Amino acid sequence: SVRVRFAPSPTGNLHVGGARTALFNYLFARSKGGKFVLRIEDTDLERSTRESEAAVLQDLTWLGLDWDEGPGVGGDFGPYRQSERNALYKQYAEKLLESGHVYRCFCSSEDLVKMKEIAKLKQLPPVYTGKWATATDAEIEQELEKGTPFTYRFRVPKEGSLKINDLIRGEVCWNLDTLGDFVVMRSNGQPVYNFCVTVDDATMAISHVIRAEEHLPNTLRQALIYKALEFPMPQFAHVSLILAPDRSKLSKRHGATSVGQYREMGYLPQGMVNYLALLGWGDGTENEFFSLEELVEKFSIERVNKSGAIFDSTKLRWMNGQHLRALPSEKLTKLVGERWKSAGILTESEGSFVDEAVELLKDGIDLVTDSDKVLLNLLSYPLHATLASPEAKPAVEDKLHEIAASLIAAYDSGEIPSALAEGQGGWQKWVKAFGKSLKRKGKSLFMPLRVLLTGKLHGPEMATSIVLIHKAGSPGIVAPQAG
Ligand code: GLU
Repeated sequence: SVRVRFAPSPTGNLHVGGARTALFNYLFARSKGGKFVLRIEDTDLERSTRESEAAVLQDLTWLGLDWDEGPGVGGDFGPYRQSERNALYKQYAEKLLESGHVYRCFCSSEDLVKMKEIAKLKQLPPVYTGKWATATDAEIEQELEKGTPFTYRFRVPKEGSLKINDLIRGEVCWNLDTLGDFVVMRSNGQPVYNFCVTVDDATMAISHVIRAEEHLPNTLRQALIYKALEFPMPQFAHVSLILAPDRSKLSKRHGATSVGQYREMGYLPQGMVNYLALLGWGDGTENEFFSLEELVEKFSIERVNKSGAIFDSTKLRWMNGQHLRALPSEKLTKLVGERWKSAGILTESEGSFVDEAVELLKDGIDLVTDSDKVLLNLLSYPLHATLASPEAKPAVEDKLHEIAASLIAAYDSGEIPSALAEGQGGWQKWVKAFGKSLKRKGKSLFMPLRVLLTGKLHGPEMATSIVLIHKAGSPGIVAPQAG
């Protein structure tokens, strides 16, 4: 049965790369009817914190990636924090010692430094060449009696190669002659990371290890440990790196890189999940818009690309807009209305003004946090302030002079305000009569009207805009500041 895991180290925030790894694991598990396990890799006690763990769990929950086993949920393969699994690591380390796959290494750190220097001088790979790989029982006994600290060092075959069949990268092959015997348990009894991961994946019955490409060198060591412990080897799938637009490794200097930052900026989990899925995966069609359910339905690991994926925040933003507009209209209106209220533009977060304004403006909104700017932009040219102000009158261009003069007259006489008070119908009726009196229609009527009334060449539908701008002067709406 399919069992996959996401194994974050709780040493910081969940970044987009980690979130994508979690997503691919989640999609793989859900699409195969398998289990998605969450394991906390907190062996680095100095850098791991419970706050960071809580933040990672919160981000995963926000994204909608619920786990079947792990912290907060439990499961038959726990505990799910590495810091709580030390007895297990110890047990398997002893097993390896008994079978001769690891040996006690009594070399001091000075010995190891010397070894490296000699290898460098001789231009040889920096592998362990100490005597403890072949020490006699008597030699070992002697050091034990003296109480000399020792590590457990893994005996790597001196020649040959190791091959895995990666589900994304195909065959990956390593020569063993340059690897060297590596430590699996430190002299203070702390198991090393690669050893913990292997014991955990095996004892948690993980069938597929889907993780970032940067773990490939670890996979070699882990594969050797699998073999030594006679654990069945899982299938591996190494997902390529996420790159910045300049193809360098994505980092903080490229802008927001953590899921929490995007949440705070007003991104929707739906937009985030959809965009993350496209970082290295596509369903083979032109379609790029997917809900989480659709992703589960369409996802296949074979379609994950092995070349690096570029993180394009402009596209993420666009994608978010697609998902925002795909929300049921009551939900969208509520979200945007609340934003307008909290931004102090409106005194009420709901009502017909909000309904109409959202409907009119939604195409220009990709992020909820932007919607205040979009509304302010519309309202920043209040009819009464511009048309009624004496300064505005001579500032009108020559070509528009005739229409501007008539417009100002119609505004001052109250003709326009009372037409607008009747809503869109009233406005349309007035425009028709106005056009007739000036012998203008179509573009030659509407373009000057738009420019004169809204101060802009383009914008959302005129009738709705005008009525909204007019309404903005009525109770319930905080008059926007000029500028
Ligand atoms: N804890 C590792 C990390 O956060 C993941 C290791 C793995 O997936 O094997 O990068």
